[in-house]
Amino acid sequence: MENVYDIAIIGSGPAGLAAALYGARAKMKTLLLEGMKVGGQIVITHEVANYPGSVPEATGPSLIGRMEEQVEEFGAERVMDNIVDVDFTDKIKVLKGAKGEYKAKAVIVATGASPKLAGCPGEKELTGKGVSYCATCDADFFEDMEVFVIGGGDTAVEEAMFLTKFARKVTIVHRRAELRAAKSIQEKAFKNEKLNFMWNTVIEEIKGDGIVESAVFKNRETGEVTEFVAPEEDGTFGIFVFIGYDPKSALVEGKLELDESGYIPTDDNMKTNVEGVFAAGDIRVKSLRQVVTATADGAIAAVQAEKYIEEHFAE
Ligand code: NAP
Repeated sequence: MENVYDIAIIGSGPAGLAAALYGARAKMKTLLLEGMKVGGQIVITHEVANYPGSVPEATGPSLIGRMEEQVEEFGAERVMDNIVDVDFTDKIKVLKGAKGEYKAKAVIVATGASPKLAGCPGEKELTGKGVSYCATCDADFFEDMEVFVIGGGDTAVEEAMFLTKFARKVTIVHRRAELRAAKSIQEKAFKNEKLNFMWNTVIEEIKGDGIVESAVFKNRETGEVTEFVAPEEDGTFGIFVFIGYDPKSALVEGKLELDESGYIPTDDNMKTNVEGVFAAGDIRVKSLRQVVTATADGAIAAVQAEKYIEEHFAE
């Protein structure tokens, strides 16, 4: 079986990189299929304070950079190809990419999740023109300007605090009267003088001709509608949306069991409902989506894939 990999991993976030590291280190012929962007969501995170053992100045990109080095040190093969179809029906699994076809004895799906859209008119048209899903990438465009952050979870509040280092005023727009974010994060946020809150409020529309010029908000309690117009001296302002994530599972829809939200259920060994196919990281049904849990999933999936191969492909 010359052109058959032992393990093929779809996705190169922390889960995929950890799986590649463990697979290659166990001397499995390991293929890491990367999309256009290596690293997943963590590369758009400015600070990784809660990954155990990370150095104080660790950033998403620095952590991912080190994981990539380790994957290469252990000899996994890396291919940048967008997988567009999968066939899990036979013992040898087939992955079809835009550039080629890949065969493997075991597959690990680590495709992750992507930011949810607020879903209001103008959002898509003005993405990258004032609307953003990445504070690290875009904060400095709003140096000394006004910024709105949509959402009330950990991500929204942490990124809003980061944005206060750049913007002159940051307003968190939350649909309820209390934040979902952890109490420890809330405590810091309430002490930050540049942070303001619009409670019980949703964004209804974003307007602008090639750049964000105004935003319409609605108070869900009172029904009051207000429009914030960019101050004349700035000409624009920022709208950062952090309202959770959607699983990137379209590729395996109909091929693997998914839950009602589109996440892949697995057992503790990362096994999906299809033999020889494992899932790791944010794409799984799980209670905590963090780098530390993603890397742990990747390690378990690779070790289990190795066991599966030993049991089912003994020569
Ligand atoms: P999240 O916890 O699901 O929070 C999403 C927030 O967006 C909630 O406040 C939610 O409002 C709001 N929201 C959802 N849909 C909305 C809509 N259509 N319009 C307006 N608002 C909407 O997502 P997250 O903050 O991205 O966090 C994801 C996971 O990562 C969580 O498990 C979190 O604990 C973890 N995380 C941890 C850290 C950390 O520990 N330092 C940092 C970042 C993320 P409601 O509150 O009303 O539902």
